[in-house]
Order: sequence, then structure tokens, then C-alpha cells
Amino acid sequence: MEKKTKFTIIYFLIALTVIIVLENYLLSKEITTITYSEFKTLIKDGLINDLVITQTAIEGKFVKGARERLETLRKGKDQTIQPLKETQIFYVVRMDDPDLVKELTEKGITFTAKQEITWFKTLLSWILPMLIFIAIWGYLLKKIGSPGGGGFMAVGKSKAKVYVEGETKITFEDVAGVDEAEEELKEVIEFLKNPQKFQSLGGKIPKGILLVGPPGTGKTLLARAVAGEAKVAFLSISGSDFVEMFVGVGAARVRDLFAQAEKLAPCIIFIDEIDAMGKSRGINPVGGVDEKEQTLTQLLTEMDGFDTKKGVIIMAATNRPEILDQALLRPGRFDRHILVDRPDIKGREEIFKVHTKKVKLGNDVDLKVLASMTPGMVGADIANIVNEAALLAVRKNKDVIEMEDFEEAIERVIAGLEKKSRVINKQERERVAYHESGHAIVASVLPNADPVRRVSIIPRGIAALGYTIQLPTEDRYLLTKSELLDRMAVMLGGKAAEEIIFGEASTGAKNDLDKATEMATSMVRAYGMSDKLGPVSFDKGRPLFLETPWNQQKDYSEFTAREIDEEVKRILIESYQKARQILSERIEKLKQIASVLLEKEVLEGEELKRLIEIGN
Ligand code: ADP
Ligand code: MG
Ligand code: ZN
Repeated sequence: MEKKTKFTIIYFLIALTVIIVLENYLLSKEITTITYSEFKTLIKDGLINDLVITQTAIEGKFVKGARERLETLRKGKDQTIQPLKETQIFYVVRMDDPDLVKELTEKGITFTAKQEITWFKTLLSWILPMLIFIAIWGYLLKKIGSPGGGGFMAVGKSKAKVYVEGETKITFEDVAGVDEAEEELKEVIEFLKNPQKFQSLGGKIPKGILLVGPPGTGKTLLARAVAGEAKVAFLSISGSDFVEMFVGVGAARVRDLFAQAEKLAPCIIFIDEIDAMGKSRGINPVGGVDEKEQTLTQLLTEMDGFDTKKGVIIMAATNRPEILDQALLRPGRFDRHILVDRPDIKGREEIFKVHTKKVKLGNDVDLKVLASMTPGMVGADIANIVNEAALLAVRKNKDVIEMEDFEEAIERVIAGLEKKSRVINKQERERVAYHESGHAIVASVLPNADPVRRVSIIPRGIAALGYTIQLPTEDRYLLTKSELLDRMAVMLGGKAAEEIIFGEASTGAKNDLDKATEMATSMVRAYGMSDKLGPVSFDKGRPLFLETPWNQQKDYSEFTAREIDEEVKRILIESYQKARQILSERIEKLKQIASVLLEKEVLEGEELKRLIEIGN
């Protein structure tokens, strides 16, 4: 569409140039241009006749002898004057010459005045710019109105691509390594297959499902697979499509999308990258009506007014759930969240299996080894690796993809990811393994710490390179002093393990330190758990609205403030030493668990317990 418009303009300009050139050429063939002084000489000699005078020019005929006279006039002069042509007609640009008429009359030369034909020039002078303007205007409108086609009149019409039954053709066979998410989505598929039956059996279906996970883990794929499994229509649209220039267009699109869905039910509405439109509605710095806000409000309205009984499920995907507007996550909207996490080593093997189905593999290819070579990578990375390996094999004129091709492909993909700093190198991975093992061992050894449910060195989210989950995960209402102290030791266990093994800690312990410090501060300031300061709370009510050092409420002396700081520090140091001692006594265990973790990436609580108990 863009191209066509551009070409039209270009064609028009070319045609115009051709016309002008042609015209000049044809005209110039018949007319000799002379200078005004030559013209005056010819008048004096009576060698011209039949003049036609316009405001700007004079045309006329040569009389016999005129050409010869001109030739003598021009002899010896420079040749910048236009050459004489084999013609009887001449042309001269008119000058301000009040005596001209008198002279002509004296010489008996006939002449007429003529209104210049200016319409053509006038037309050109304003029609041409207007045409160009209209062309540009139309082009812009088309571009703004609908990049997907449809043009100006289609503004506001949804461009959601509709995949009707059978078209997604994607099933759970094509998705691997996200078994938990698949399990949770099975219910949705059952519902979509037969909404009435499902409800008469008392099943309750969520309205909105939010798939949350890092980029490339297969959220979009999974949503399409749900449609494919249930064999229902799939209406997908990307959140960024809603970000429009015209206020109201986004809202109109949302309305349209839901109207379409109602017609196609049972079906799935899928809003990909919902964070683009569902960003938290803050204060608009520019002021006025915010387009995004309108779109989001419309989406909320549509979701509220939508009846699940009709068999429409609204799914959305995001890798930044934290920036979503809270209103989107409320009950009745996207209240079901499904985590689509990075795959573990087994998951990656499965994904390799899916993506190598259609290619020929050499005998030496071991998918298990490939999985172990790609820690931290997501489905999209693996798809990329298989593709790259196939290209490499073709380049080497091979019929099958061999292990060396995969190795080279992995190197390339890693190099690409390193640029985006998304891949952890070997040393870092080892450090993370020891760090998490440190948390896990301290937690397992201390009597008042919560038992470990899972340790993982699969990066999660943006900041965490690994994580240790403890039971219970729900909030506790009361915690004793010894429980708090043990918790702090567990938090500092990561740093302690790093220092024992590598001789120094890393920046990875920042989050742990923050949490431990906060806890120690609360113990001293709020809970009266410091023997030195006694059962006193220094934490009166909430802090002032803006908590800056100079307006912070503080009703204790500088001396007490120093004592508080010292107590916090003492508690932290003691907790750290406790953790360090536990780990120093179990260095072999630490190494063993870290190496198991490096190999398997995830350790479940039971397994960890077994490993710690062996030989104890
Ligand atoms: P996301 O939407 O989470 O960013 P996509 O669904 O767009 O990720 O994944 C991009 C591509 O990567 C998919 O088309 C697929 O080829 C591959 N892929 C990603 N995750 C998986 C997976 N779990 N199993 C198989 N292939 C996957
Ligand atoms: Mg996606
Ligand atoms: Zn940690």
C-alpha cells in the first residue's frame, strides 16, 4: 500500500517532466530566440513583421534578409546566444520599452497584442502542489488508519487476526517443557469443547487467564495450542496494536474484538504482550485524555460485561506482570495466572525433541547432551539453535545434522544472547549453585527454619539467577525470635557459601542482605528483641509520607540511634557466623549438593533431604 502510493507520485512527476521537455523541444524547433538588441536592430532595418505582443514576450516573423542580417550581427560574438534555426518565426523576451509601439508604427510593421495563455502555467503552479499534497495526505492517512490494510475508512475496525478451527493446527505435542502450565490449561480446553456440559457438571471457569513468563518460553505458542486442542477459533491481537495515534481508536478496536468473538464462540481471545496496553494507569504527565487509558478502560468494561457461559475465554500473555494495572488482575478479570517458566534440563531435552522432529539427525546426536549444554535457554532459543544447526549442515553439504553442527550453533546462539546479557557463563553458574546450596543446607540444618521445598539454578525473572523455596510459603502471623534468627542465617547462607568456596562473595547476595538487614532492624526497632536495648519499640506508627532523613520521625536520642545500629549489626554478624559455621562443617556436603544442582538444575525437597542425611 505504501509502495503503490509512492509509485503513483513518482509516475506523475515523470509524466509531467516528459510533457514539459517534449513541449519545449517541439516549440524550440520552430522558433529562434533572439536578443532584444537584435530585435531592435531588425525593427530599424524593417526585417520583421506580423508581431504578436504579450505581457512578457514578443513573437513574429522574419522578413527576407533577416537571417543574413542576424548572422552578420552575431559574427565574432560569443556563442551563449541561442543559435539561429531554419525557421521564419522568432521569439524575444519583452523589455520595458515605451517607444516600441511608436517605432513599429513608423516602420509600418504590423502587430497585435495578445492576452498571454497563462491558464496552463497557473494550473500547474497550484494544481501540482495540491496533487502532491493530496498524495502525501492520503498516504499518511492510510498509514495511520490501518497498517494491516483497510485504509482510512477502516479506522477503528479491529485487525485482530482470526484463526478459525483447524488453522492454528498447534497442539500440546508442539509445546514441551511446560507440563505444569499445560496441566492447568486442560480444564480450559474441556470447557471450550463443550461449554454447556461443563457448566451443568458444576465446573467453574475463569474468565481471564494470564500467562506469565520470560520472553520465548512459549506463551504465545501455548495459547494457540489451547485453541488447537479445543478446536475452537483463535482471535489474537497484540497489546502493542492498540497503541494508536488517534484517541478512541484503541477502544473501538477492543469493542470490535469482543463483538467478533461473540459471533465466533466458542473461541479464545488472546491478547499478546498485554503490558503494552495494560500498563499501570499513572498520572499522565502530558495531561488530557490518555489513549492507552481509554483502551484499557474499554477492555475492563468488555471483560466485566462478558458472560463466560457463551464460551469465550480471554487469555493474555506478559513477561512483565509487575507493571500491569492492578484493575486487570482483579477477580472476574485476569484472576488466573499461569507461570510459563524457563525449562529445566529435562524440559529442554523435550523441546529439542519437538524441534528436531522434522530434521534428519546424525547418529552421534544426543539430545540429552544438548539440553545440558544450554542452561538458562528458553524454547525460542532452542528453536533457533536447531534452525542454525540445520543451516550449518546444509552449508557443509551434509544430509544429516551432526553433533558438531549443534555445538557450533549453540556457540553462535550463546554469543548472540551474551550481547543481550541473557546467558550466564560457566563460572557464574557454579557460583549460583554454591550460593543456593548454601541457603538450602543452612535451612535444612537449623531447627527453626522452614524446610526447603525446592532449590533451582534456573534463572527466574530479571534479577534472580537461582532460587530456594521454603515451606510454608504462606504468610505467618507470629514468628518467634529464634525463628527470625534462623531465617536470617538461611538468608545469609548464600553469601557464606560463596565466601567459603571462592574466598569472596559476589553482588548476587544483595537481595539476601537487604532482606536480612530489614529483618534485623525490625527485631531491634519494632519487636523489642534486643537484650541490650530492652523491650522498647522505636518504631512509632507509620513513617511520614515522604521518608527522608530530615523529616523522619525520630523520638529517641542520637545515642540510642547508634545503639540500634550497633545491635542490628551484631545480630547480622552473628547470624552470618552461624551460617558460615554450619557450612564450614559440611564443606563436602556443600560441594556434593552444588554439583548435583549443576547437573540437574533443580532439586526437590525430598531429594535434598536425602542428600544431606546420607553419611550424617
Ligand atoms: P513467548 O510468547 O513466550 O515469547 P513464543 O510462544 O513466541 O514465546 O515462542 C517462540 C517460538 O519458540 C515458538 O514459536 C516455538 O517455536 C519456540 N518455543 C518456545 N517455547 C517452546 C516450548 N515450550 N516448546 C516448543 N517450542 C517452543
Ligand atoms: Mg509471544
Ligand atoms: Zn541468595
